[in-house]
Amino acid sequence: MADTPRFSGETLAAQGIGKVTVPFAEVVPPIHVSTTYARGEDGGYPGGRVYSRDQNPTYDAPEQLLASLEGGAEALLFASGMAASAAVLQALNPGDRVVAPRSMYWAWRSLLREFSTQWGVQLDWYDNGTPGSLERVLGEASTRLLWIETPANPTWEITDLAAAAQSARAQGTVVAVDSTCATPVLCQPLVLGADLVMHSATKYLNGHSDVIAGALVTRERNPFWARIRRARSLGGAVLGPFEAWLLLRGMRTLFIRVRAASANALALARYLETHSAIVAVSYPGLPSHPGHQIAARQMHGGFGGMLSVRVAGGEAAAVAVANRLQVFKQATSLGSTESLVEHRASVEGPDTLCPRDLLRLSVGIEAIDDLIADFEQALAGNPAT
Ligand code: PLP
Repeated sequence: MADTPRFSGETLAAQGIGKVTVPFAEVVPPIHVSTTYARGEDGGYPGGRVYSRDQNPTYDAPEQLLASLEGGAEALLFASGMAASAAVLQALNPGDRVVAPRSMYWAWRSLLREFSTQWGVQLDWYDNGTPGSLERVLGEASTRLLWIETPANPTWEITDLAAAAQSARAQGTVVAVDSTCATPVLCQPLVLGADLVMHSATKYLNGHSDVIAGALVTRERNPFWARIRRARSLGGAVLGPFEAWLLLRGMRTLFIRVRAASANALALARYLETHSAIVAVSYPGLPSHPGHQIAARQMHGGFGGMLSVRVAGGEAAAVAVANRLQVFKQATSLGSTESLVEHRASVEGPDTLCPRDLLRLSVGIEAIDDLIADFEQALAGNPAT
C-alpha cells in the first residue's frame, strides 16, 4: 500500500497524503458512509469493495499516511487501540508464548493477564525498568510475540528497540511495539527492526480528545499480518467512517502538535525537577532518567509530551495538587492539545503498580508560561513544600 514517500513525513501529513479525489478535485477526501457496494453483472465488484466491515474507502488515506510515516508496508485502522492490540493476540495460536513488559498501559496488561490463560497463550513478563531483563526472559523459551511499550505508560521506562529486535530476530519472534506516546514523529520502531507498531490513535495521531481509534502498521506483508487483517475483517472491530475522516484531519497537524507538546513537556519537567514539593520527575528527556541515553538514540526531535511526577507528602498531597491545578484538566487519556493531569493509581484500581504519590501529566500545546505558573500555584499550597 505505502510506496516509499517522495516527500518527508511532515509534508505527507500536512497534506493528508495529498491525493486529490475525482470528480470534484477535492483537496480533502470525502467521507464514505455506504456500508455496502454494488455488484456487477459478471458477479464481481467494480468498485473493488464488498462490505464496509472489511474495508471502507475512508480508511485509505489515513492508513496509507500512517504506513508511510512509520516506514511500513501497510496499516490497518481499528475501533480503538485496545481492539488493534487484541487483533495481534487473535493472530496467535494456542500454546504460543507471549513476553510482555511489567510496566505498561494497565488495560492491556489486564487483558493479557485475564485472557491469555483461557486462550491457551503462555504469558511471561520482563522488567522493562531493569537492563537485560528482556533478553533474559526472551532467552528462557521460544517466544512467538514480544510486546514492547516505549516510553511505557505511566512511568515512562525506555526499551532499546534495536537491541530488542536483534535478540528477538534470532528466534523468529514477532516484535510488536506500542508506540502511542512516541508517535512516528519521534520514533519509527519498524525502521529499528520491529515487525508491528500499534497506536492508540485516540491519542496523538488524532490529537483532539474527540475520537477513539486504533491502528496497526506492519513492516512487511506476511502470513501473521494476513491473520491480523482477517481478524479485523471477521471480528469487525472497525472504525466508523466519520471517525476515520476526523483522524486524518487530526494527523495533518501531527508533527507541529507533537513537537510543541514535547518542547513544553521538557520545559515543565526541568522546572518541576528543581521544585522542593516534587520528589521525582520521570521524563525520558531529562538526563536523570535511566533510559535517557537510549531515548536520545532512538527518538528524534523530542521526547514526547508525557511525564510523571511524585509529589512530596504522598497520595493525599498528590490528589490535592491535582485538585488545585486550573490549566491542567483532571481527566484520563493523553496526547491532545489540552494539558491533562491524572492521579493514575486510583484510576487503575487495586492491582495498580503505579506509586500512590504519582501524578501523570499529558502536556498540551498551551503557552508554557501558563503551564508552569499553574504548577507554581498548585504546589505552593503543598504543606510539604
Ligand atoms: N496504549 C497506550 C499507551 C494507551 O495509553 C492507551 C489508552 O490510554 C491504549 C494503548 C489503549 O488505547 P484505546 O483507549 O484507544 O483503546
